[in-house]
Amino acid sequence: MKAIYMKCVKCGNQQQLSQNYSCKQCGGILQIQYDYSNSEIRKKSERIGLLKYADYLPVNAEYFVTLGEGDTPLLKANHLGRWLGLKKLYLKDEGCNPTGSFKDRSVAVGISKTLEFGANTIIIASSGNGGASAAAYAAKAGLRAVVIVPADTPINKVNQAIMYGAQVIKVEGPYSNSYHVAKKAAENYGWVNLTTTFINPYIVEGNKTIAYEIVESLGWTVPNWIVVPVGDGPVLVGIWRGFMDLKAVGAISRLPKIAAVQAERCAPIVRAFENGKDTVDPWTMGAGTIASGIADTLDGYSEDGTLTLKCIRESEGYAVSLSEEEIWESVVTLARAEGVFAEPTGAVSVIGMRKMIAQGLMTSNETVVAIITGNGLKTPHLPPNYSHEPQVVKDADELNGLILERNCLPHAI
Ligand SMILES: *Cc1c(COP(=O)(O)O)cnc(C)c1O
Ligand SMILES: [Zn+2]
Repeated sequence: MKAIYMKCVKCGNQQQLSQNYSCKQCGGILQIQYDYSNSEIRKKSERIGLLKYADYLPVNAEYFVTLGEGDTPLLKANHLGRWLGLKKLYLKDEGCNPTGSFKDRSVAVGISKTLEFGANTIIIASSGNGGASAAAYAAKAGLRAVVIVPADTPINKVNQAIMYGAQVIKVEGPYSNSYHVAKKAAENYGWVNLTTTFINPYIVEGNKTIAYEIVESLGWTVPNWIVVPVGDGPVLVGIWRGFMDLKAVGAISRLPKIAAVQAERCAPIVRAFENGKDTVDPWTMGAGTIASGIADTLDGYSEDGTLTLKCIRESEGYAVSLSEEEIWESVVTLARAEGVFAEPTGAVSVIGMRKMIAQGLMTSNETVVAIITGNGLKTPHLPPNYSHEPQVVKDADELNGLILERNCLPHAI
């Protein structure tokens, strides 16, 4: 498999592989196209990180920068499966990536391309994880990193980026404001824009490897459903493109359905899906959700949402949104049923699946993979009204009576 050119998703115009970010003809989103002749998807197991898949990514192995991203575990979730009524439920735990989220896959590709193009500074607008990831990979590559985040980004994510040596700038208002600041600055200063939307056609490609790994872990079979938290959508679109690659090279013969989960408080893609629309409009009702990693109002780039919606429809998938209470229920249930601690954004698939099962969209014998996109260590909150202040004792005698007062068993199961 070899990357050969870029193609506009809107007008079909073809362009050479270059550092150009949008269609010269209509300004549309560009996607990398491949030559699939004489190829099979087999990773090179002696290599570390996504370098295993260098032949299937638009990168040159010589420039590839890795911190050991990918190869995350596909965990069989028996407790959660029983709770939901799914016999074959798996969790793809992307919290195990080097900086704690799947963003490492896209950033590894983006940083490698930056080296290949000979640039020395990257900028990224991020709700936190992308910025921490870009800062880490820039450090490894010896590049300068500027990270633009919304002012209310969780402190752990901000500090993580600072520790890796990035210059972090906060921007007031929702994520879209940060997006536009980074875009302008990249244009003004000639920096490479690694914002993990569709703005840079290379970085979405890193997410294809999630699909490759799932299929390989399942013994080259295809799940019925993949459930994904969605903000702008590159993770969903990347996974979908990965399955399309596998089909194109003959490694699989059918495709999964893909379900997107958003927060009710910021659900532009779900709203368009539910209204039967083909285009996504920006979300103008504010975006205050604890799932800050998917709080993307798409203000000024709603065609990104339209592309994501198109992939959901192509897969015959679904889109569903959760209330704040349901998001917290997802986090707590996942942690207690399966020992997987996710940030609120990363856990939303849990109650997303419950809603789909209730509607008869997902059935007990289907194979379902929930993508757990980010690690809970990055978001320091407990759910509101969740009093679990640990008691303080002086010695073991004071434990008498204390231990059994607490229900230490998983609450939900
Ligand atoms: C960025 C992010 C998402 C959303 O990804 P998109 O590709 O923008 O849809 C989901 N979960 C976590 C933890 C993230 O950091
Ligand atoms: Zn075009």
